[in-house]
Amino acid sequence: MPEPQVMTVSGPVSVSSLGVVDAHDHLFLRTPALPGDEFDDLERSTAEAREGRASGIDTVVDMTPIGLGRRPDLLRAVADATGIRIIAASGYHRDAHYPDGHWVHDASVDELAERIVRDLEVGMHPSDWNDPEAAPDPARAGAIKSGASYHHASPAERRRLEACAIGSRRGGVAILVHTEIGTFGHEIVDLLEGLGVPPRRIILAHLDRNPDAELHAEIASRGVYLEYDTMGRTKYRPDSDLLDLVERMVAAGHGERILFGQDIGRRSMLRAYGGGPGLRYLMERFVPRVRRRIGDAATDAILSANPARAFALEPPG
Ligand SMILES: [Zn+2]
Repeated sequence: MPEPQVMTVSGPVSVSSLGVVDAHDHLFLRTPALPGDEFDDLERSTAEAREGRASGIDTVVDMTPIGLGRRPDLLRAVADATGIRIIAASGYHRDAHYPDGHWVHDASVDELAERIVRDLEVGMHPSDWNDPEAAPDPARAGAIKSGASYHHASPAERRRLEACAIGSRRGGVAILVHTEIGTFGHEIVDLLEGLGVPPRRIILAHLDRNPDAELHAEIASRGVYLEYDTMGRTKYRPDSDLLDLVERMVAAGHGERILFGQDIGRRSMLRAYGGGPGLRYLMERFVPRVRRRIGDAATDAILSANPARAFALEPPG
C-alpha cells in the first residue's frame, strides 16, 4: 500500500516527511475579536517561523480559517524561505471572529461547503471571496477548521459545522474544532458523527483549557484527537498542570489520541513583534519537561506519529 500523503501549501508530501508537527498555530491572522493584535507582516512571520524551525519544529499546521486574514501566498513564501512545512486550513471559525455584514453569517450550507471544497481541491481563495472574481492561489488547504461557542453552538455555527463536515467527507481531510474553554466536546463529536464524519477525522482544540483528565479520557475513548495547545499561557495555569494532564492521559492508555499545538493567535505572543512566548516555546521549554514525565517514545508519538495519522489524506467518503 502506498504511504499516505498530507497536503501542504507546497503540494502533497508523504506523512513520514512531516517530522515534528505543531498541530495548531498561526503565521498570519486578523480578527475583530482581537483588535490591535493582528499580524500580517511577511518578514516578521518568516523570522518567527525560522526560530520555530531552529527549535525543532518541522511542520506547522496553520489553522487560520476563511475570513481571518488567511494568506496562502505568504504561507508559501514562509515555507520557501525557512524550509518549514506548512499545512493550511479551510473552514470557518465561531461567530465572534466575523464582523457584522460578513458573507459568512448568511451563506447557505451549500455555498459554505462549496468554498471549502474549492480550497481543498483547486487552491485557496486569495482574499477569502471578498473579491469573488480573483483566481485561486496554487496552494491547497490540507485541513478544515471549525468552531463552537461556550457550552453551545449557535444556529450559524451549526450551519458552518455542517459545511465543514461535507468538506471533510468530500476532501478526506481532518476537521479541527475550536472549543471555547474546552467545553461542548461530547456534543461537537455527536454533531459531526451525525453528519457522517468518522471520529478519527475529528480534532478537538483547546481541551486543556479545562484540564479534566476524566472527561478527556471519556472523549478520547470515542476515537477523536484531543489537542493540547495552551502551554506557556501562564495566565490560565502553570505548565505543570498540563504536564500532569498529559501524564495521566498517557498512563490511562490515551497517548495516541493527543496532539500538541501552540495556537499563537496574537501579535503580542510573537517574539518577532517583541512579545512572547513565541513559536519556539513548545520545543525549547515544554517538550523537554514532557520527555521527563512520559519518556521519549510517548513524546515522539504525540509530536510526529499522531499528527501524521490525524492529518493524512483519505479517499473521499
Ligand atoms: Zn487558533
